Amino acid sequence: MNIEDQQFRMQGVSLNELAKTYGTPLYVYDGQKILEKVSLLQKAFSSVNLKIKYATKALSNINILKLMKKAGTGVDAVSIEEVHLCLHAGFDPHEIMYTPNSVSFDEIKSAVDLGVMINIDNIPMLEHFGTFFGNEVPLCIRLNPHILAGGNAKISVGHIDSKFGISILQLKHVLKVVQAYDLNVIGLHVHTGSDILDAEVFLKGAEILFDAAREFKELKFLDFGGGFKVAYKPHDISTDIMEVGEKVSAAFRKFCKEYGTELEIWFEPGKFLVSESGLLLVKVNVVKSTPASTFVGVDSGLNHLIRPMMYDAYHDVVNISKLEGPERVYTIVGYICETDTIAADRKLKEVQEGDILAIKNAGAYGFSMSSNYNSRLRPPEILILNGKAHIIRERETFSDILKNQVDIGII
Ligand SMILES: *Cc1c(COP(=O)(O)O)cnc(C)c1O
Repeated sequence: MNIEDQQFRMQGVSLNELAKTYGTPLYVYDGQKILEKVSLLQKAFSSVNLKIKYATKALSNINILKLMKKAGTGVDAVSIEEVHLCLHAGFDPHEIMYTPNSVSFDEIKSAVDLGVMINIDNIPMLEHFGTFFGNEVPLCIRLNPHILAGGNAKISVGHIDSKFGISILQLKHVLKVVQAYDLNVIGLHVHTGSDILDAEVFLKGAEILFDAAREFKELKFLDFGGGFKVAYKPHDISTDIMEVGEKVSAAFRKFCKEYGTELEIWFEPGKFLVSESGLLLVKVNVVKSTPASTFVGVDSGLNHLIRPMMYDAYHDVVNISKLEGPERVYTIVGYICETDTIAADRKLKEVQEGDILAIKNAGAYGFSMSSNYNSRLRPPEILILNGKAHIIRERETFSDILKNQVDIGII
């Protein structure tokens, strides 16, 4: 895990010192961990032509994007703003996959102008694309294989009534459109959900994708999306990436042989690359006993880390102010005026006012989903690289709350 041998250090840097220096709440990311994850994925798929397209939305600080670029990944962007951010961070347009849902055709045209790979996920857009570009711009098509995958209903996007992708049941219609406009389809894509545990789900998706791919003659890549499950608790099971790599690579090589071309295999991991790298450090404001439980109230909440309330996500919590001593059971809650439970019924080293807690697995969908709800300021972000802490985002100030608000002056 991130917190080395319970000394509460990350690459030798003391987390308690960081909290003292930069204050709380504070996001801290382990750059080394991210690089290890990239290497692990590259190793698992070393027998095929792998391209990693990091899912920008998981954690989009430009320094993280630059780190990915340095590690040799491309990126997946889900909005035109993310495309701009990736270009700003130094990615070449051809390294960027743009996978939007429910955006206007104007936004798709802008992305084509920027030279990025377009992934189309509905038939009307495919027709607009054909009308406007014909066969001049290569594209990828996002299919929905209708596989039930992922940790829970809110993060499973491959089921039958999901808004994502073009149903595999509509493949005939897709082929008609492709033919009518002579579309240059060079990639097919599936992304079925998040927190996928076993190789079988990826293999099932692969078989469906292979079947569809046989209908397209000019393919250059197949994209299996993201969704690898990560470990949330000590001894938690996570996707066995070596096993997935071995099984999916074997099936992929076999398909390529049959197809007659050595295609590229793409993955778009978000969580897998950055989740475990991140911690959210918070300070205990109050320890409050009620007849039922003991609440620990901290100086952060769903405005900074919405995953527990939004997805029932599990985040391990450690009291890094206490090396020794007895443990007690607490429910850790945020300061937002809503039900704001970060972690229920957890054993922590006895908590006192002023203690610093580390919330784990805060790298993915932590800061990137944060808000100013309750007019609170967003925390700074720290990246630890080569044993040194770098501030990669300043703490917001009150002027950020007023920014863009217009006082019309007549009230
Ligand atoms: C969110 C998303 C991903 C990343 O999912 P993880 O569960 O973080 O791996 C990949 N591809 C697409 C299209 C996405 O929307």
